Amino acid sequence: MRFRRFLFCGLIVFVLNGLAPARAADRIAVVASFSILGDFAKEVAGARADVTTLVGPNGDVHMFTPTPADARKVAAAKVVIVNGLGLEGWLPRLVQASGGHAAIVVASGGVRLHRADGGDSHGAHHGEGSPDPHAWQSVANARIYVANIRDGLIVADPAGEAVYRANAAAYLSKLDALEREVRDAVERIPPERRKVISTHTAFGYFEAAYGVAFIAPQGVSTDSEPSARDIAMTVKQIRNAKIPAIFLENLSDERLIRQIAAESGARVGGTLYSDSLSDEKGDAPTYIAMVRHNIKALTSALAE
Ligand code: ZN
Repeated sequence: MRFRRFLFCGLIVFVLNGLAPARAADRIAVVASFSILGDFAKEVAGARADVTTLVGPNGDVHMFTPTPADARKVAAAKVVIVNGLGLEGWLPRLVQASGGHAAIVVASGGVRLHRADGGDSHGAHHGEGSPDPHAWQSVANARIYVANIRDGLIVADPAGEAVYRANAAAYLSKLDALEREVRDAVERIPPERRKVISTHTAFGYFEAAYGVAFIAPQGVSTDSEPSARDIAMTVKQIRNAKIPAIFLENLSDERLIRQIAAESGARVGGTLYSDSLSDEKGDAPTYIAMVRHNIKALTSALAE
């Protein structure tokens, strides 16, 4: 009797296993180049894939040096998801070195391009006039990224099509809501206050989509500490253009930021996440959390 019950239980476990979405061994290996793409990939793939990233939270995707362990990850991957637009200059060599046969999905495929201005830390990496790679900073573009990732996963793993479509649809509707949130938040900022001084050059797509201007400070470069004359120029610029807030995280000397704020009357904004998510405990562990964090930092700095 006891033996029969044992057998019966075994049978139930077996059946349940057969119905489970995917056992670890069945999951496809997906590698995303950096944390934001990793988040999108996890949303779309759900339990069907093991998603890992090469450049993790708080890492710099522009200045990445792959290790042999990264090459092994890529070699074992069925799909490698990249941003494209020149962001991952280190990637072609890594893929070649890995000797793998992963399908490469370019997440930014089909976005309307914006050109980099150059002349600062980001521009220096990309070169003036080359496409600005930070397309994910517009939520409408994030939708394109997610659709490309969905389609790439379906090609690589056709058996999962229904799952990928359902997961992507659910996430895309969250992005729709997020897009409305951002627009509503910007709408509440008086139009003449929708501008910040910023050393970030990663927000060109955000600016184009939502109408908050990111103006580079005159005189403040990230290469050298600004002189008294540079500071005076920036202060004058802020006063003349009546710019309510400054986001100058790249400036290493916080006293200079405080000085510029005190002399110009501009508010010091908080941290903006551009190229990477935070870790789990941080302010921006997911793309949606990152956009919400940024919009909160901007609206509180620009409120009257
Ligand atoms: Zn960047």
